[in-house]
Amino acid sequence: MFQQEEYDVIVVGAGHAGCEAAAAAANLGSKVLLVTMNMNTIAQMSCNPAMGGVAKGQIVREVDALGGQSGLITDKTMIQFRMLNRSKGPAMWSPRAQSDRMRFAEEWRLTLEQTPNVDFWQEAVTGLVVEEGVCVGVKTQLGIEFRGKSVVLTNGTFLNGLIHIGEKQFGGGRAAEKGSTGLTEQLLELGFEAGRMKTGTPPRVDGRSLDYSKMEAQPGDEVPGKFSYLDTPALQNQRPCYITYTNPEVHEILKEGFEKSPMFQGRIKGLGPRYCPSVEDKINRFADKDRHQIFVEPEGWNTVEVYVNGFSSSLPEDVQYRALRKIAGFENAKMFRPGYAIEYDFFPPTQLHLTLETKRVENLYFAGQINGTTGYEEAACQGLMAGINAHNKVHGKASFVLKRSEAYIGVLIDDLVNKGTDEPYRMFTSRAEHRLLLRQDNADLRLTPLGYELGLASEERMERVREKEQQTQAVAKLLKTFGIEPQEINGWLTEIGSAVISEKTRAVNLLRRPGIELPALARVLPALTLALAPYRPDALEQAEILVKYEAYLEKEHQQAARVQELENFVIQGRLDYMAMPALSHEAREKLLKVQPETLGQASRISGVSPADVSVLMVYLGR
Ligand code: FAD
Repeated sequence: MFQQEEYDVIVVGAGHAGCEAAAAAANLGSKVLLVTMNMNTIAQMSCNPAMGGVAKGQIVREVDALGGQSGLITDKTMIQFRMLNRSKGPAMWSPRAQSDRMRFAEEWRLTLEQTPNVDFWQEAVTGLVVEEGVCVGVKTQLGIEFRGKSVVLTNGTFLNGLIHIGEKQFGGGRAAEKGSTGLTEQLLELGFEAGRMKTGTPPRVDGRSLDYSKMEAQPGDEVPGKFSYLDTPALQNQRPCYITYTNPEVHEILKEGFEKSPMFQGRIKGLGPRYCPSVEDKINRFADKDRHQIFVEPEGWNTVEVYVNGFSSSLPEDVQYRALRKIAGFENAKMFRPGYAIEYDFFPPTQLHLTLETKRVENLYFAGQINGTTGYEEAACQGLMAGINAHNKVHGKASFVLKRSEAYIGVLIDDLVNKGTDEPYRMFTSRAEHRLLLRQDNADLRLTPLGYELGLASEERMERVREKEQQTQAVAKLLKTFGIEPQEINGWLTEIGSAVISEKTRAVNLLRRPGIELPALARVLPALTLALAPYRPDALEQAEILVKYEAYLEKEHQQAARVQELENFVIQGRLDYMAMPALSHEAREKLLKVQPETLGQASRISGVSPADVSVLMVYLGR
C-alpha cells in the first residue's frame, strides 16, 4: 500500500470544519491524515472575509475556549474588529472581525504544518472503505487506499457542486475549483438520505476603481478587542469598511436579468439561506424598498480586492456589472470576479449521533456544510467536535457532547440532530433558550475546564481561567460591599438622567440601574478606581455582569437545571416506539427515526409534544 501507515483519524477536506477536526484530533494525540483536493486552498473563505458576528462570534469564542484554533488564527489575521450590539445587554454582544482572506488561509496552513501528528495528502477522495458497517478508510481518485480507524467527512459545498451564473451552469465546488463526485453516490448505496441546498456569493471588485468619498466609512472599534482568551496581541492598525446603497436604477437593471436568473427560472432546485438572500431575491421579495445596504469590505492588508457584501447574485455577469456601476461610489467599478450561486448535496443531520458520528456507519463522522449548515463558524465548531469525538472513540474514551445550556455549539448540534434542517442552518441568538448564560465574555469559564479535562485546552488557558474566576469573585464581593455617600455621586447621577440617592448606598445598587456602567462609575469615585486597580479588565467586566444581572442569571440557572433533569434521564437501548399506542403517530415515527438518547433529546424532536414526553416518562417508569 502507498505511504503505508494506519491513521487514527482521516479527515476529508481542509475547509473550516476539516482544519479544526484535524487540529483537534492531532493535538489530542491521534495520528491524523488530512486529505484535501487542493492544498493551496486550505481554510479558504469561500464567501465573505469575516469571522464572527451575532451568535457566530460567540461560537468562535467557544471554539477558542475549548482549545480550537479559529479564534487564534482570526486574531493573527484580522484587519478590523468590532463588538456588535454593544448598546444591548451582554447576552447580545457579539465579536466580529474583518479578516485578511489570504493571511487567514496561510495562517491555518502554517498552524497545521506545525502540528505534530498531521500528515497531508492532496487529492480528491472518491469513496469510503467500509467493512461490516464500520468505516476503515478512504479511496482517492488515483485509486490509493488510505486506512484509518475513523473518517471525518467535511466536503463543504463540493459534493456534486453545480455553479450557476445566469443561464450558464458548470460543475464545481467553488469558483475555479472542481466539485467532488462519487461520495454521495456511495453514501446513498449505503442507505443514507441526501438532499440539495444552494448558496451564493457577490462579485469582487477592484478597490482602486471605487470612489470612497461617496460612501460612509465604517471604522473598527476605537479599542479593538479580539477572539482568543489567550494573550494574543491586540490589533494596532485597522482598515475601514464602507457603506453604500443600491437604488431604483440598480434594481431596474437587475430586473432585466430576471428572465435569465437560474433561481427565478427554476434551474436551481436546492433551498438557499433565508437570512442571506441574493440581491435579486431582495428586490423581488421587498419590491416596496427602493434601496438596500451594501457593505464594502476590503479583502486584506495587501490587496486591492474588495468584497461587495449584500450584492450576492447569480444573474448574468454583464447584468451584475451594469447594475454595480449605478451604485454610489461604484460608477467606474472594475469587476474581478462575478457573483454566482452554487448547488450542492448535503446529508440531513438527523442521521447523526450527537457526537456527529453517523448512525448508519460506525466510525464515520460528518461535520460542516455537509450537515446542512452555512457559515465558517458553524463549520469550525462541528469540525472541532467531530475531531474530538473521533479521537476519543478510537482511544476508547467517553464521547464529548455539549449541552444546550453549556454552549451555542451544544445548541447547534442538538438542533441539527433532533430537528434536522431543510434550509442552510445558521446560528442565531434566538435559537438558544439559555442565551443569558451563553455569552461571549464567559465562554472560557464555561468551556475551558472541559477542554482542559479532554487534554485539548492548555495549562496556560486553564491557569488564566482560574485566575479570572478568583478575581471575578473578589470584585463581585467588593462591588456588593463598597459604600457610596450621596454627595459623592448625585451630581453625576443627574448628569446621566438617573434618580438621585438620599442615603448611603452600595456600588452594586447603582450598577443595577439602567445606563450605569462600572468604568463610568469608577471614574467619578477615585476610591473605587483604587480598589479595582489590581484586577484584570476581563474580571471587572465579568463581575459587573454577574452583579448587575444577578437575579436574571439565577433564574436562568434554575431553568437550565430543570431542563437538565430530563437530559439526565437516559433512554437505554432501542425502544419499541411502535408498540406505544398512547404516543401520537407522528411522535412514534420521529422517535423511531431519531432514536433519542435522553428524554430531553426526545422532547426537542419536532413532532414530539409535551404530551408524548409524559407518555414516555410513564413508559420509562418515572
Ligand atoms: P468548505 O469550506 O467548503 O471546505 C470543504 C473542503 O473540502 C475544501 O477544502 C475542499 O477542497 C475539500 N473537499 C471537498 N470534497 C473533497 C473530496 N472529495 N476530497 C478531498 N477534499 C475535498 N456562508 C455564510 O455564512 N454566508 C454566506 O453568505 C455564504 N456564502 C457562500 C457562497 C459560496 C459560493 C460558497 C461556496 C460558500 C458560502 N458560504 C457562506 C458557506 C461557507 O463557505 C461554508 O459554510 C464554510 O466554508 C463551510 O465549511 P466546510 O469546512 O464545511 O466546507
